[in-house]
Amino acid sequence: MIDLHTHTTASDGRCTPVELVTRARRAGVTVLSVTDHDTVAACGAAAAACGAARVDFVPGIEITAAQDGVDVHVLGYFIDPESAELRAFLAEQRQRRLDRVRDMVARLATFGIHLDADGILAPALADGSKSAGRPWIARALVAAGHVATPSEAFERWLSRGRPAFIARRAAPPDEVFARIHEAGGLASVAHPGLLARDEWLPRFADAHVDALEAYHTEHDAGATAHYLAMAGALRLAVTGGSDFHGDESHGGLSPGSVSLPREAYDRLIVLKSGDTSQTTP
Ligand code: AMP
Ligand code: ZN
Ligand code: FE
Ligand code: FE
Repeated sequence: MIDLHTHTTASDGRCTPVELVTRARRAGVTVLSVTDHDTVAACGAAAAACGAARVDFVPGIEITAAQDGVDVHVLGYFIDPESAELRAFLAEQRQRRLDRVRDMVARLATFGIHLDADGILAPALADGSKSAGRPWIARALVAAGHVATPSEAFERWLSRGRPAFIARRAAPPDEVFARIHEAGGLASVAHPGLLARDEWLPRFADAHVDALEAYHTEHDAGATAHYLAMAGALRLAVTGGSDFHGDESHGGLSPGSVSLPREAYDRLIVLKSGDTSQTTP
């Protein structure tokens, strides 16, 4: 199994990098990428654990871009986690995440829900390489008894259109593709079925995105077939993965629960090595 989309405690996942790799190996994953939101903090530990477990590791990331007020999740693969330019850019993205969580906590207070922003942000305040996000607020809402589950927290308060939602400030998709390329990586539009802006995909292709994530936990067989066809028409490669967060309320239930076919992975390897003679089918 090839799983190119997973999260750890470096962002909103529940497993440490070592726990994630242990679970992936047990599930039969042979190629794993860790794609935390706006941080590469887990890549070092995950690479080491994969080396010990004989799992191929692909350094990855999921960067949140924003266009017309809509979040566009962009996956990056084979990036250099040590890239100083990438690290500086991600530090800005994470600072905007901290500000947004504070703004949303303040918004909740206007509805009589008083949460401790510093407590929610404690892991990221203690370690600037960790990436905060709405799931951390969702967990605080559950812990304080305001909602029963993180999903309910999103549905009642945190999702777009709900009372505590505040639009994010983030780089536009074109800039994110360029940043990923600058760090030596390939860029893929994450879960286009959840993005639900198919009309934007040709523009992303013009802006040199490399791939679409056709295989994803939230894509049914019809959606997967649809995005495979779109990738073909736009001459893009294909990526895929479980989006495992170690959390029942979101993403795949196990690493490897969604797997990228080997041929699609091999094409990414070819693209990465820059051999354009084999990049179209
Ligand atoms: P943020 O990074 O702050 O925009 O938060 C988005 C993250 O929240 C996503 O990457 C998911 O992991 C998580 N998420 C989104 N929608 C839901 C939901 N309905 N229930 C639980 N988690 C969600
Ligand atoms: Zn997430
Ligand atoms: Fe995502
Ligand atoms: Fe994800």
